[in-house]
Amino acid sequence: MIEISTFTTAFLDILFPRRCLICSVFLFHPLSGSARKQSLETYLCPACRQHLQVYATHLDSVRLLDVEKVFSGYLYAGPLEKIIPAWKYHKRNEFFPLVGELLESALSRQEILTPAFDLVMAIPLSPSVLRKRGFNQAFFIASVVSAFLKQPLARNLLIKHIDTPHQASLDRRARALNLGPENFQVPEPDRIVGRNILLCDDVLTTGATLSAAARTLKSAGAASVSALTLARVVLD
Ligand SMILES: [Zn+2]
Repeated sequence: MIEISTFTTAFLDILFPRRCLICSVFLFHPLSGSARKQSLETYLCPACRQHLQVYATHLDSVRLLDVEKVFSGYLYAGPLEKIIPAWKYHKRNEFFPLVGELLESALSRQEILTPAFDLVMAIPLSPSVLRKRGFNQAFFIASVVSAFLKQPLARNLLIKHIDTPHQASLDRRARALNLGPENFQVPEPDRIVGRNILLCDDVLTTGATLSAAARTLKSAGAASVSALTLARVVLD
């Protein structure tokens, strides 16, 4: 079976060579006798991979209110500035496995297992944004993280019922005012009491969204809330 699938993949790669999802150059893979492992090389050319900027905690020391620890995979710069909007706003299907690979690569690097989490959760979208976008990008991230950490994935334990102006369209002060803990709700507090939650989102900018959600979860009885984002904007 492995030989057939490897042969088929290699054959398809010759007929329909893959292109880098960022710059569209052709990607060439050496033919090998074993099943090719999916990796960042499957989606990005060497130049674009080189421009990925891994987030390092010394770059900023933003403390988020009510959030214990914050982990981020990459700087929101270079390839990530193209990948995230293409995936989130245009729902380009081929970006889902790339985002999965980026996250797994970031998770293998980070000391994320040090604090013990027992529930992985996503920042929710309001029902109208979810309808418009068709998927919650933070939930996809949470599902990859949950599988990687082998911890349960929460569904609908945190909901957003109020439509607020899109955070990306606001400046820093307005972002903080735009979101308060009243924007989020915990419909079944019994299920989060005493839990150590890892809250996931795509991009951390000011952290106002994560802080507001964390406050809601802690008021509902969560023992601790930490956050993980795929990328992080480093503010001047
Ligand atoms: Zn490229």
